[in-house]
Amino acid sequence: MAENRIYNFNPGPAVLPLKVLKEIQKDLLNYKGSGMSIVEISHRSPLFDDIITDAVERTKRLYGLDDRYHVLFVQGGASLQFAMIPMNLLPEGRSGDYVNTGTWSTKAITEARIQNKPHKVVASSEDRDFAYIPKNIQFSKNAVFAHITSNNTIKGTQWADFPDTGGVPIVSDMSSDIFSRPLDTEKFGMIYAGAQKNMGPSGICMVIIRNDMLDLIPEGLPSMLDYNTFMKKNSLYNTPPTFAIYTIQLVLKWIDETIGGLAAMDRHNRKKAKILYDAIDAGDFYRGTADKDSRSLMNVTFRLPSEELETKFIEEAAGKGLGGLKGHRSVGGCRASIYNAMPMEGLEALVDFMQAFEKANS
Ligand SMILES: *Cc1c(COP(=O)(O)O)cnc(C)c1O
Repeated sequence: MAENRIYNFNPGPAVLPLKVLKEIQKDLLNYKGSGMSIVEISHRSPLFDDIITDAVERTKRLYGLDDRYHVLFVQGGASLQFAMIPMNLLPEGRSGDYVNTGTWSTKAITEARIQNKPHKVVASSEDRDFAYIPKNIQFSKNAVFAHITSNNTIKGTQWADFPDTGGVPIVSDMSSDIFSRPLDTEKFGMIYAGAQKNMGPSGICMVIIRNDMLDLIPEGLPSMLDYNTFMKKNSLYNTPPTFAIYTIQLVLKWIDETIGGLAAMDRHNRKKAKILYDAIDAGDFYRGTADKDSRSLMNVTFRLPSEELETKFIEEAAGKGLGGLKGHRSVGGCRASIYNAMPMEGLEALVDFMQAFEKANS
């Protein structure tokens, strides 16, 4: 691959588009004739204002969001959102529904419990080690929200369609599949995503939130833990992670202008996932760990006939410039994270390697 770069299948922080990295490199010493880098300019300068405004506007355009929705940048990653959601959106006497589809959902539920906020786990796939997305879920009629994890980065499952909640707004952790496909956004009261899988550097979380959710927020929250602070100050109440927002803006521009929007991004992602799943399903050497109807287009999890072969596979792949194929430490096996920025050539190289490895080891 160009520039001595590897094909990076890491789950996060993860691959970014080469075009974006080159743009960052080019801009670094002198951003738009300012004589300063992007990390040295004021977050209150017109130059940065253009960046954050463009990031917000592109997000709204890509998802077709109307004026009821606000796009916020909050520090603390997706993990802080697990705590901010019950803190902000569960006022006295109200309860939230949660669907448990793996590690990240479990952490979200834990934060509601820690704060003693009423909540109900309405479905879970824990009985089969989170290998599937639950179906035909009964959501509570008076729940404030229905929390789901749209893509389960560790277990390799993804909601292909979003559930019928009977009108309860969905709140979704989309950390590992944001901007990977078009959405019927009307169903969502809030979408949030840590940036380091599909958008940019770690440490920042994009929060898309609708007015009716903001109306639920109780008085008296600490300013930096209150979504209304971020909404009122356009994410500039304090100094935001400017470099991260700048990178996200460039990635959104890449999706919009180079790829051609979310429908084109989705087609590309489906093609990429298909060649890898086809390779896994071609014989019985490789075995996918998620149920077929719940498979993720972003994180492809699979096993080999033995743990020894898995170790050898991961090592030999790394030697050939295919990095980050080790499964999460809690589950083992192999995982290829093939986010938006992973090019088709990366999938072709991986599948070629898988076929050669199988031949040599079976
Ligand atoms: C990575 C990830 C998180 C955690 O994100 P942080 O930014 O590290 O807090 C949460 N949810 C999902 C689905 C993830 O993939």
